[in-house]
Amino acid sequence: MHDETRSVSKVPVSLAGYDSLTVPIHRASTIRYPDAASFAARFERDADGYVYGLYGTPTHRYLEKKITELEEGARTVLAPSGQAAVACTMLALAKSGERILIPDTVYGPVRDFATHELPALGIEAVFYDPLDLKELDGLINSSTRLVWAESPGSVTLEMQDVPAIVEMAHAHGVLVGCDNTWASPLNFRPLRHGADVVVEALSKHLSGHSDLILGSVTARDDSLGLKLKAAFGRLGIGTSPDDCALVARGIETLAVRLKRSSASGLEIAAWLARHPCVETVSHPALPEDPGHEIWQRDFSGACGVFTFTLKQRYADQAFSALDTLELISIGASWGGTKSLIAPTSVKALRSVRPWTGPDYLFRLSVGVEHPDDLRRDLERFFAALTLNAATAA
Ligand SMILES: *Cc1c(COP(=O)(O)O)cnc(C)c1O
Repeated sequence: MHDETRSVSKVPVSLAGYDSLTVPIHRASTIRYPDAASFAARFERDADGYVYGLYGTPTHRYLEKKITELEEGARTVLAPSGQAAVACTMLALAKSGERILIPDTVYGPVRDFATHELPALGIEAVFYDPLDLKELDGLINSSTRLVWAESPGSVTLEMQDVPAIVEMAHAHGVLVGCDNTWASPLNFRPLRHGADVVVEALSKHLSGHSDLILGSVTARDDSLGLKLKAAFGRLGIGTSPDDCALVARGIETLAVRLKRSSASGLEIAAWLARHPCVETVSHPALPEDPGHEIWQRDFSGACGVFTFTLKQRYADQAFSALDTLELISIGASWGGTKSLIAPTSVKALRSVRPWTGPDYLFRLSVGVEHPDDLRRDLERFFAALTLNAATAA
């Protein structure tokens, strides 16, 4: 054999006695077949088998199985982002002439997708008030295929009554999908409450370190899971095994990270609620929150993500005051180890129930730092805010 040939040929390495604690990373486009006949029959392989890199390697299977277990579902399909998981689930489940009902408080980019892409395909996207079940019931017609839910809602954190939505939708033979990114499967299990599919933006809590983009959809029954898997494959939805292994690693510390960030978050939220500069705090785990009852009934915990608004006379000073933060970074996304704050506007993102609150809401994602240090940083923000407001007055 020549060196060129030797260089590319695979050498056998024994795996005997190798039993590590880590998630194995398998990269592959090509899967080798033992003979021509098994290659010809490759698409008849079991849905969990291996056909081609796009359809997954053992690393993908590991993460799919782990998420399936946590969601108490039958099958998980991975997507290159949480956004792709939602969008492709909608594309896979609805066809031209059908209707999807979407909460007014849905994740902004999903609203954008539903507004611009679904109608072009003949799929009608209708937004509904996340808190008005009677209105929702009236919007379900014979062409309705899917009711989407997201609880709590993006930025404004309204809690939806998912079990009631499921009961209503199923009475009409309509599927229910739930974006569960805020709660994660550790704090809410939509499938247990009858939802047909649940989506997680793995970019948030499950990966947990702000270093990748990935999503998942888990189906309650396998026939729906197989339908999603086939559709995602046809759409060319593939993911990197390296990212999958990082998410699998993140899941190992999910419970301790969530426990820490939700405790610190709740402590800071309660402190903010008493702060003289603060107008409102939206956090379903606060007893005075309008969604608290549903949260307490259906969820087993919270996370460090919540929103506050400022009193009008401080609102104009907010941006320059934010610039004084030293520990908390300004940025989008959430669910990582490091705390983030994002001044967010929802005015343009509400079409059913217009937003009448201040222009900017401040979404905090509390990380795993010590809460005293975070509070000291926020005190710096409030000191700048009051100083600026006094100077401006
Ligand atoms: C971030 C987010 C998504 C999208 O996830 P990406 O991986 O960033 O595309 C979807 N839904 C919710 C509720 C989110 O917060």
